[in-house]
Amino acid sequence: MPFDIDLIRARTPGCANVAHFNNAGAALPSQAVTGAVIDHVRLESEIGGYEAAAVADDALENFYLATAALLNAKPAQIAFIENATRAWDMAFYAFDWRQGDRILTSVAEYASNFIAFLQVARKYGVSVDVVPNDSSGALDPDALSGMIDDNVRLIAVTHVPTNGGLVNPVAAIGRIANAHGIPYLLDACQSVGQMPLDVQEIGCDMLSATGRKYLRGPRGTGFLWVRDTLMESLEPPFLDLHAAKWVAPDRYEMRPDARRFENWECNIAGKIGLGVAIDEALELGLDEIYSRVQTLAGALRVALSSVPAVTLRDIGREQCGIVTFTMDGVDPTAIKSHLAADHINVSVSGQSSTFLDMESRGLDSVVRASVHYYNTQAEIIRLRDQLAALEKIVINRNHQR
Ligand SMILES: *Cc1c(COP(=O)(O)O)cnc(C)c1O
Repeated sequence: MPFDIDLIRARTPGCANVAHFNNAGAALPSQAVTGAVIDHVRLESEIGGYEAAAVADDALENFYLATAALLNAKPAQIAFIENATRAWDMAFYAFDWRQGDRILTSVAEYASNFIAFLQVARKYGVSVDVVPNDSSGALDPDALSGMIDDNVRLIAVTHVPTNGGLVNPVAAIGRIANAHGIPYLLDACQSVGQMPLDVQEIGCDMLSATGRKYLRGPRGTGFLWVRDTLMESLEPPFLDLHAAKWVAPDRYEMRPDARRFENWECNIAGKIGLGVAIDEALELGLDEIYSRVQTLAGALRVALSSVPAVTLRDIGREQCGIVTFTMDGVDPTAIKSHLAADHINVSVSGQSSTFLDMESRGLDSVVRASVHYYNTQAEIIRLRDQLAALEKIVINRNHQR
């Protein structure tokens, strides 16, 4: 299916203002997504918040249907949560951690996840073991296999890290987790919306994601998916009157479905908007989206390679739409500012977001230029030309010294 890029860009107002290479931070939403959010907020002001939610019942249920279709899962396995971190937390802290339990994780793990590991390690005497990477920089499934013993309670890995193009071999990890009956929690925050995700194929048991990144949803939205077999044994760390029902003076009953991980009050307009965003991704097709994202990211890596001062920093055999680099003699934040002056959006990934990975590679920070399918070759050239211009400025400055 050929993408109608002109049409897609016409329906994405931000494309007229900025060359947006910060899709791993927050992608530009479509007009339809923003419209759905604004329409609902307006309706709330006109008829009342509860009354507006009742009117929007179908649109709210659509969030679960769309997310289920996105993951090849069932609507009852999905919880709407305000961001990926809390979604991940609701699964992670549902385990009753005990002294001697082991958690196996990836080098590329996201800081918030690792901080949670360290917290349960300190509080309960759980040990956290990092699975080494293979020579390409991706998690090594053979090494994972060799680390399994009866104390491993959880395998928790990041699919695509926040700081680069790496794509971890999540299905190979799933086969190992399933063979040993070990729960498998996948942080799919950067992969969802960028590439096809099939939880049956991956074999994970829990998956967390955010709305605002590659899904192009509103900020303050995210979700958790939990497999049925694990649902029963996981009691969320927080329960409210939506997650559970108070049935007797001394007793409550949890909801049987994944909404036990939700709480009652939430961003209703955001939930509607995220449903619309996921519908749009499904309509374009995740295979097609990933193919275009990889083509553009490949073109960007080639373009950046033509600037002598630039060093690409992406690792792994399969590389996705997140392109990272450094430049000799220029701080990543200065690069970001230089590009911002020409309305080119990139971001900077600092060491503390993915500490183990950055420290092991001797990196303090990198520039992150993350492409989405609505980016164009012309924008890539513009980014490259601005970096070449910056390189000249730096060379001239050094000559004058
Ligand atoms: C952004 C990110 C998160 C956190 O998502 P929030 O929605 O900000 O909580 C988690 N993991 C990875 C890999 C991320 O890139």
